[in-house]
Amino acid sequence: MPASAEASMPQRGAPERLDAFMARANAAYYAGRDPFADFVTAPEISQIFGELLGAWCAVVGQGILAGCTGGAGLMLVEAGPGRGTLMVDMVRVLVRVAPHLFATLSVHLIETSPRLRAAQKAALSQSGVSVTWHDGLESVPRGPMILVANEFLDALPIRQFVGEETEWRERFVQDGVFALSDRVEPSELAGRVAEPGEVVEICPVACAFVREVAARLCAEPGVALFIDYGTAVTASGETLQALRDGRPVSPLVEAGTADLTAHVDFEAIAHVAMDAGALCFGPVEQGELLVTLGAVERARALCAAVPDQANTVRTALDRLIAPERMGRLFKALAVMSPAGIAPGLVAPPGFPDGVPYGQKETR
Ligand code: SAH
Repeated sequence: MPASAEASMPQRGAPERLDAFMARANAAYYAGRDPFADFVTAPEISQIFGELLGAWCAVVGQGILAGCTGGAGLMLVEAGPGRGTLMVDMVRVLVRVAPHLFATLSVHLIETSPRLRAAQKAALSQSGVSVTWHDGLESVPRGPMILVANEFLDALPIRQFVGEETEWRERFVQDGVFALSDRVEPSELAGRVAEPGEVVEICPVACAFVREVAARLCAEPGVALFIDYGTAVTASGETLQALRDGRPVSPLVEAGTADLTAHVDFEAIAHVAMDAGALCFGPVEQGELLVTLGAVERARALCAAVPDQANTVRTALDRLIAPERMGRLFKALAVMSPAGIAPGLVAPPGFPDGVPYGQKETR
């Protein structure tokens, strides 16, 4: 074929594996747009969310430090802190209810977006704590810690496999549409026979993050709390979604113009954490967690304090806890150091059974 004819043919772009596309799209999205114009998260809905988690941190933090010798300080680590609202609300409560703990506290934020780092810095400027930013967990110093992550894991890149007859093919993105690979046999799906048309998602980056957190908790005392939307039990089906201007759009829209998320598989991450040697509690539904921690009482107190805001407070509470709103779809999983590492720790508040994952029927 003459070179001129070849040059005039439309060029097909190289296929990009879905997780690479999602990582690139979200990095551009969080760096370039104000995500909170497109979606609202629990701490942005009501201060009640962060305040209750602040009180939770006070209880858990005392348990962590109870078993520590040498007067180590407590690190409060947050992964994907958004605008910093959750951390501001938690710290405000910690100062009040646990001043001795607050005095030893250092805050560490894991955030890759320069734009959101700036927002977090502004939000925390009056909080009275020392704040350090990190690209990942590796650079967070070793020591006793509480880690919280709200709607962080759902933004991490997923891989999707599609059943064709009894075999798996992996989804790629090419020229703005999905393309399928040749037959693959990913180790994560080893031994699992595909159903025709079945879609399975895995999130190796979320699993790697939880594995790293759990490994730390097996060496240093601490607790991690993961809150996200997803399933308590591994399920097949496609959950990748994109939001732009508050509305669902195709996940394959121009990379960086929409927020891409997928359901978190809590069974998978609990197993990753337990395989690393940590204890897991939950998952519990967000509504149950918040009500157990006192959401209704806190809302009542806010309504009494500011009666002309009462309707707003009630509407926000309903959004957080009602089963048909965020109450059921969102879930919380606590990952904790084993007893040998943190002798002062008991089951975290809000996980009412007090029974570690796997010691009860969760299905
Ligand atoms: N927790 C916040 C924000 C959730 S949005 C809230 O509840 O309001 C997701 C957050 O995770 C953003 O701060 C985003 O910049 C951050 N994030 C997404 N991918 C990340 C990654 N790979 N590493 C670090 N932070 C990431």
